[in-house]
Amino acid sequence: MCGVLGILGNYPLTMARGLLLLLAHRGQDASGLLWVVGNEATSSKSIGNPDRIFVPEIASSQILGSTRYPTTGKRVASEEDLDTFVGPFNVGDLSLTHNGNITNMHSISNLKFDCDTEFIAVKLTQNLTENNGNLPSAFSALQSEVDGAFSLVGVYRGKLFAYRDSHGFKPLVFGRSKQKTIVASESTVLDMAGVPLERDVYPGELLIFGDGGTMESYSISQSLTHSHCFFEYVYFAHPAATLENQLVYDVRFRLGRVLAQTFLKMNLERPDYVVPVPDTSRPAAQAMAETLSVPMREIILKNRYLGRTFIVRSQEERDAMARSKYLYLDDKIRGKIILVVDDSIVRGTTAKMIVADLKKRGAAKVYFAVTCPPQTHPCYYGIDISTDTELIASTTEIEAIAEYIEADALIYQEEHTLSNAIGLKDLCLACLNGEYPTEHARRIREELQEQGASSIERDYERDFSK
Ligand code: 5GP
Ligand code: MG
Repeated sequence: MCGVLGILGNYPLTMARGLLLLLAHRGQDASGLLWVVGNEATSSKSIGNPDRIFVPEIASSQILGSTRYPTTGKRVASEEDLDTFVGPFNVGDLSLTHNGNITNMHSISNLKFDCDTEFIAVKLTQNLTENNGNLPSAFSALQSEVDGAFSLVGVYRGKLFAYRDSHGFKPLVFGRSKQKTIVASESTVLDMAGVPLERDVYPGELLIFGDGGTMESYSISQSLTHSHCFFEYVYFAHPAATLENQLVYDVRFRLGRVLAQTFLKMNLERPDYVVPVPDTSRPAAQAMAETLSVPMREIILKNRYLGRTFIVRSQEERDAMARSKYLYLDDKIRGKIILVVDDSIVRGTTAKMIVADLKKRGAAKVYFAVTCPPQTHPCYYGIDISTDTELIASTTEIEAIAEYIEADALIYQEEHTLSNAIGLKDLCLACLNGEYPTEHARRIREELQEQGASSIERDYERDFSK
């Protein structure tokens, strides 16, 4: 998962960096800005959040930005890695950056690429050469070859372009004012820039923007159904973002409301407090509290300056970080029945630790509610849950997960209540039900099942061409 940004129209680079900060939650591994002056593209990249990117005090009329979440290639560990793994990338007249994950990069290319964004940039440049610089033709060729998720934004010969793969896995929105056009992963960027949100880029649509707010739209590829990633609504996107005409906050609130109904059906003892695990599950916890008429209390507080626990690779490191991630209001816990709400259980590290922490502080009972249904299958489209071994629900029944995390009850969202709460039919639910919307992803799955193996290595980074 990553964040992407594109700006056409004179804009100060320091302000562009400010806009990119609104996509920091989509990837805190590294970030980059690229700007064009004359015909020259210059980029500046940094490990961590965009506020660390150095930019000169100038304006540019073509700017790209990206925040990176490492689902292809390794984590960025040094300055040298920035050039290799972090977009935006420039190849000849073309610069671009993308959000998503290409699943067949290792099967269709003999060249070894470290990063799928660079792979797309090189492929697209080849296609442009073969098609006299015609972007729609180059994209038609790209879409027919490449499998996976890609929402991308780029600049080519003075124009800004945006493309969303035919399934529309990842979000991409745009807006125009008289002076500028902005394309971004989330609408909050447009709000901050004072540009009205026009709409989502349609799946399979290529948009080419020129000076003065001109726009050409090309339908490159249609898919009978779309496959929007449901996890954007559950976890990734900012609650203030509007995706496919829905405010993410409202979806999370509805997820909590239906989860409260599931809780009621379980006939458990009434909790004293509903407690969100900050920050994502707060709207859902509020909705559960309202529906159950139980007060919500923020008894678990986040140690804000710790950084990410999820992306850390070793379990020891993750455990150590998880232990220092939360602070607790001890005197509100003793003797209480607490209903904790989190957005998801992946490996179970967070849930197990929170239950233990609450019990250690004297909680009488801890119920654990999860706004996401059990994630039983790896994601090949850009969420870093790419092998079965990372997913406790892939091998463990719900009762056994409850036992493992030592909760007095475990309340999971169901698939149909999730879809209803999101209010879209066209969702990718592959990590819940194993129904992968693209061919190569299905092939990866089949071959792995035949081999009977899943390992620490990411499934889609193996070579399935042989
Ligand atoms: P677990 O501790 O079970 O491995 O992971 C669950 C926790 O990680 C939840 O609190 C959830 O908010 C968070 N989480 C789930 N998916 C992701 C992800 O893709 N990236 C990050 N950074 N956190 C995640
Ligand atoms: Mg969390």
